[in-house]
Amino acid sequence: MSHGATDNRTMQTIRAMARSGALPHALIISGSGDRLAAARYAAAAMQCRAEGDKPCCSCVQCRKVLQDIHPDVLWVEDTEHKELPVDTVRQLRSEMFIRPNDGGRKIAIFPNSLQLNDKNQNVLLKIVEEGPAYAAFIFCTENSGTLLPTVRSRCVELKLQQQGETQADMELIRAFAAPRGSVTRYCIALENKKLKREQLQQLLQNAWPVCVEALALKMGKQAVETSLAEGARLLAENRNICQLRQLAELVKQYALDCQYNVGVGHVLGALAAEWENTL
Ligand SMILES: [Zn+2]
Repeated sequence: MSHGATDNRTMQTIRAMARSGALPHALIISGSGDRLAAARYAAAAMQCRAEGDKPCCSCVQCRKVLQDIHPDVLWVEDTEHKELPVDTVRQLRSEMFIRPNDGGRKIAIFPNSLQLNDKNQNVLLKIVEEGPAYAAFIFCTENSGTLLPTVRSRCVELKLQQQGETQADMELIRAFAAPRGSVTRYCIALENKKLKREQLQQLLQNAWPVCVEALALKMGKQAVETSLAEGARLLAENRNICQLRQLAELVKQYALDCQYNVGVGHVLGALAAEWENTL
């Protein structure tokens, strides 16, 4: 599949994050869908030199990434072995300390993270955590549970969705835009619905790019017509920059927390309390 086939919502998320300079240096692309296309798209966004939306998909940097010929985008896999030999991973680690010579970033993409055994992941951990500023990592896997919690906690997960799956929940966005008490009421309603942890994670993951886009809008960037726009405008009209920044951070943090074995009620309660405190 071409990069055009990547599910739209993920592409929008990547663009929204890139627009506001919030594209994380370590990403997990999970779920069912064209993970490699999404990884390529994210890598293009990191290398793109266009002024406006990234990736522009037409500058030299973008084109090289999208054609898999960019010298600073390393696809790390071993088609002859089930797992990556640890020497390959150590070699990659050294390679990541050599500055990029064509693009602005040096990006390692693991198209099949199942090839990374625990030992491999431990070799990578430190550089993922505190590598050079230009280093970036993209782990593709159907289920992020195959990665060690220590690695996962350094990454932001983007989960691909099949068409028709939940879009960003406007009810949650409306609650964030509404007066004090609204988010608490919304969270209580969710708890009563016996929401599952995975569903809550998805809900927050979908809300995150909307918050990031709202912050970009509030800071004077032009709106792009995407499915994020409606929610982003609503938030930008009703919240100040400081609140939007905190909101984006909160939503991301609680989405990450949902990867672990935390109670849904606990997450909802803490999220509501922390948010109401900022109002
Ligand atoms: Zn570009």
